[in-house]
Amino acid sequence: MKIIKSISEMQAFSCEARSTGETIGFVPTMGYLHEGHMSLAREAKAKNAKSVLSIFVNPTQFGPSEDFAAYPRDMDGDLEKCEKARVDAVFVPDAGEMYPDGFSTHVDVAGVTDVMEGIRRPGHFRGVATVVLKLFNAVMPDRAYFGQKDYQQTVVIRRMTRDLNLDMEVVVMPTVRDPDGLAMSSRNAYLSGPERAAAPVIYKALSEAGKLYNTGERSAGVIAAKVREVIGGEPMVNIEYAEVSDAETLAPLRQIQTGAVLAVAARIGKTRLIDNILL
Ligand code: AMP
Repeated sequence: MKIIKSISEMQAFSCEARSTGETIGFVPTMGYLHEGHMSLAREAKAKNAKSVLSIFVNPTQFGPSEDFAAYPRDMDGDLEKCEKARVDAVFVPDAGEMYPDGFSTHVDVAGVTDVMEGIRRPGHFRGVATVVLKLFNAVMPDRAYFGQKDYQQTVVIRRMTRDLNLDMEVVVMPTVRDPDGLAMSSRNAYLSGPERAAAPVIYKALSEAGKLYNTGERSAGVIAAKVREVIGGEPMVNIEYAEVSDAETLAPLRQIQTGAVLAVAARIGKTRLIDNILL
């Protein structure tokens, strides 16, 4: 497994692979790897000649009062997991490599960022889209793998990929959950024992709302109210939003026809978690 720190070395690795007709599957991450990340890494390896995983805690996608400094990091553990998943190259640039002095170009994806996380985390998707495009230009993948867990992010990246003619495929993989339903997240490491015990209520609420949908309910208001009701029953968890949106455009829906996403953000103590299901 190669550990690559510079953009030029990353590009050289990818150019060499591509010159011999090898495909590259790429998994961008912020590290502190868990099974969710590794499911993407395994898929990248299974469907491509070479797999590349990046680890970069991107400062520009965190708001000033968010958890950039506290974000969990474990480079040695992450590299071990990558080795085990037979990742071919791990790209680990530092902030100076990604954002040298004078850096001043950004990617703003309009529309799909005007809802959900985009409203609550101003500037977040600008940071995400910019860093992901930079990572794409460093890794030059044929396919890039993202988790459904960050649903809005997948929509933003798909939009950017189409709008800017990127010659690559965006692949979205299902959310990997702990046995009690909690979506795996690096941020779960922040949860205290009692907070961790309360956290599965988020997926429980999504599942109960999903059952309503499966038994014929089509009112977005009724479905979102079910999520609020179930999460409201757990005093440690404070819901920020529960929204039903068109799965492609993320436009808020009143009536669900086909292709909707039910997305939730909630706070447990100081930890902010998101999750979603498709309806
Ligand atoms: P992050 O390190 O949180 O930026 O996530 C890197 C990638 O892993 C993103 O595409 C996430 O959507 C994906 N990911 C994070 N958690 C999960 C999960 N529980 N299941 C599947 N993919 C995930």
